[in-house]
Amino acid sequence: MNWDAAVIGAGPSGSFLGWKLAETGLKVIIFEKSKFPRYKSCGGGLTKKAVELLPEGWQNLIEDHIESILVTYKMEETAHLYFKNPLIFTTMRDKLDTWLADFAVKSGAAVIEQTPVLDIEYSQGKFNIKTPSRSYTADVLIGADGPASIVYKKLPFNLKINYAKAYEAEVFVDKKFLQKQRSKIWLEYGLISRGYSWIFPKKKSLIHRKRYIPEKRHRC
Ligand SMILES: Cc1cc2nc3c(=O)[nH]c(=O)nc-3n(C[C@H](O)[C@H](O)[C@H](O)COP(=O)(O)OP(=O)(O)OC[C@H]3O[C@@H](n4cnc5c(N)ncnc54)[C@H](O)[C@@H]3O)c2cc1C
Repeated sequence: MNWDAAVIGAGPSGSFLGWKLAETGLKVIIFEKSKFPRYKSCGGGLTKKAVELLPEGWQNLIEDHIESILVTYKMEETAHLYFKNPLIFTTMRDKLDTWLADFAVKSGAAVIEQTPVLDIEYSQGKFNIKTPSRSYTADVLIGADGPASIVYKKLPFNLKINYAKAYEAEVFVDKKFLQKQRSKIWLEYGLISRGYSWIFPKKKSLIHRKRYIPEKRHRC
């Protein structure tokens, strides 16, 4: 069987696009190397604009409503911005990504989990997609396979990508501290040389990330 479109990766972009394409009646296949639900390090913050694109039911995924942003420099408060309406909704990516992949399936797309794409060839107007068990053909190929994208590596031209290092931890803290961080994003500048850190609150934990900007950008 030949597919109209093959999407590599069932993260938010792959599942969302697969869902929208399948809704138009196209035959869509989505390849995902992991098995859902799969954990992913992420703030999981969805803006108002993003949730407006989602179908009913996204509210069940919400971990916290962000109503203020605290900015500190070397732990001293420099600004605390409050918003009338929630600016961002935090989610857990295992739940969000599984939910979106289910929508793609409901609209008629085939989502095949635990199926890494190993190689892609293009010949006679078709993409030949190789997985460990078999090959598939499709008219259109969509790369939604994240930062270590195999689709990107197969492009016939060299796009320059800048990389920066980031470390993320999900931290389980006591209820009192968690309550203090509720509904607030905390951005800290100054403690990390050439970088910054943030805390995003979730229902039961805090996601803490440190990001470093390299002096010389690494290019590939
Ligand atoms: C620490 C951190 C915090 C972040 N916080 C936020 C935030 O709060 N809000 C926000 O909007 N963004 C945030 N981001 C960015 C966000 O994670 C990405 O923009 C988003 O995940 C991109 O989605 P995607 O679907 O394009 O790719 P991904 O989510 O990376 O999904 C790619 C999928 O492709 C699959 N895949 C990869 N290679 C293959 C292959 N060869 N074969 C089959 N499947 C494959 C992977 O398993 C994965 O499921 C954060 C990123 C990081 C690192």
